[in-house]
Amino acid sequence: MSDYQLFIDGQYCEAVSGETFATLDPSTGESLGTVAKARPEDAARAVDAARAAFDDGRWSFKRGSERAAILSAVAKGIKDRMPELADLESRDSGATLAKAKGADIGGAMFWFKTMGEFATRLDEPEPLPQTIAPGPSYNFLKRDPVGVCTAIIPWNFPLQMASWKISMALAAGNTIVLKPAPETPCTAARLGEILAEAGVPDGVVNIIQGPGPGTGEELISNPKVDKVSFTGSTEVGKQIMQMAAGTVKKTTLELGGKSAQIVLDDADMELAVDGALYAIFFHAGQVCTAGSRLLVSEARHDEFVERLVERAAAITVGPATADGVTMGPLVSQKQLDTVLGYIETGVKEGATVATGGERLTGDGLDRGFFVAPTIFTDVTPDMAIAQEEIFGPVLAVLPYTDPDDAVRIANGTRYGLAAGVWGSPAKAIKIADRLQAGTVWVNDWHLLNPKYPFGGYKQSGIGREHGMLGLLEYTEAKHVHVAIDANRRTHRWFDMTVPRA
Ligand code: NAP
Ligand code: MG
Repeated sequence: MSDYQLFIDGQYCEAVSGETFATLDPSTGESLGTVAKARPEDAARAVDAARAAFDDGRWSFKRGSERAAILSAVAKGIKDRMPELADLESRDSGATLAKAKGADIGGAMFWFKTMGEFATRLDEPEPLPQTIAPGPSYNFLKRDPVGVCTAIIPWNFPLQMASWKISMALAAGNTIVLKPAPETPCTAARLGEILAEAGVPDGVVNIIQGPGPGTGEELISNPKVDKVSFTGSTEVGKQIMQMAAGTVKKTTLELGGKSAQIVLDDADMELAVDGALYAIFFHAGQVCTAGSRLLVSEARHDEFVERLVERAAAITVGPATADGVTMGPLVSQKQLDTVLGYIETGVKEGATVATGGERLTGDGLDRGFFVAPTIFTDVTPDMAIAQEEIFGPVLAVLPYTDPDDAVRIANGTRYGLAAGVWGSPAKAIKIADRLQAGTVWVNDWHLLNPKYPFGGYKQSGIGREHGMLGLLEYTEAKHVHVAIDANRRTHRWFDMTVPRA
């Protein structure tokens, strides 16, 4: 029996093929356990369970307030298992314990609770402007669930992202099949029992671990699925859109980013330096909103870089669960190779390594995937390290001449997920206005909240998640028109087609 099984129709089970795969601890390279490996036939089974659960109304017919009570119980179930889940998340994904507790497990609780509160707002139909011509009618807007949703997620915030997708789908009355990333399947697998205990009916949530090709594709192309929600790379996002087009599925895409941090000359130095480091090196840069480009005025450049390098030395890299570690490993050998490849490219392109630039070994690091916090200077906006998402601890510093130049550089990539400005709020807000990004932080970074919408401009995605805007993406809008005068004589417009005698 595998250590982490599939969760389908309220039951834990093996894959039909009996196949399994291992998940690794990226701090040590050791196996954490075996995981049931879902194939397309398992994905189809999970979709059938979600379809049946949606169609008989066991969840979609509940009022928002009833769904809210159950989602709140899910949040409590997660809270009760906080230490166990945080430890598991840290070992499976390489998140430091602080990140696992605060962002992954804490975020999961916060999303279930808040989305439950939002669910109650869907109970009452919204009145629309009333009409008297050609006849008097009463009009209102209702929000129905879309139906069966499928969600595919990456490995950087495993339980938090699983919770984003499940909490939003459930708050709006849908059923769902979730596929976590194969690198980080453990905590999502544990969620099955928590959901069941909290009273989520069988089949409403199904969780299947397996590869994107084949298994993930079945979740996108299966005609019984109504909506697809994908978080991952822009490249895979494009394929998802094409596959979903076959049956015109509603599609939400949360994709990559190359977020720019603009430091204004009046920024508080202490805040901006540590903030810039947190923006790029939190979770070793494996964050879609990583502030991977730092724009500093020519006048402040040298001084700022000097302080950045000095403060970067305060970051302690090491095994994710070890005391005092503030930056863990990259998630896999593959990600390590990608990041080291970009560092090599940066050097070849003529950028200068101001600090880091190498894999870290020795002192118990040899078998993990550790890279030093890396800062490049002498970067120009056209370089690959200034255009492409690296998804690792690599910062590109670019000088700007004036704020117009800064805005031009900031907007000069195919991405538009997030951006930020360090400086006096009055000036920073004016700059924020001109940035093409779904989230702009002023004197802060990485703070996402279930109450506020999140998503990308340009090739960073389609649609929004979180907040009421995000929840509404899990609904269909239904306009109901009720003729107040139910009388053939006053329905004169019928005469255009069937004249009265
Ligand atoms: P990825 O390669 O796009 O994979 C994401 C997920 O998609 C994985 O579960 C993957 O499974 C699956 N997948 C791959 N090919 C598929 C296919 N043909 N059909 C269906 N599913 C498929 O991304 P990643 O490398 O895991 O994660 C990093 C990326 O995610 C970055 O670009 C980052 O910016 C983005 N991201 C975005 C956000 C956001 O909210 N905007 C948040 C976090 C991360 P397999 O691994 O088995 O292929
Ligand atoms: Mg793992």
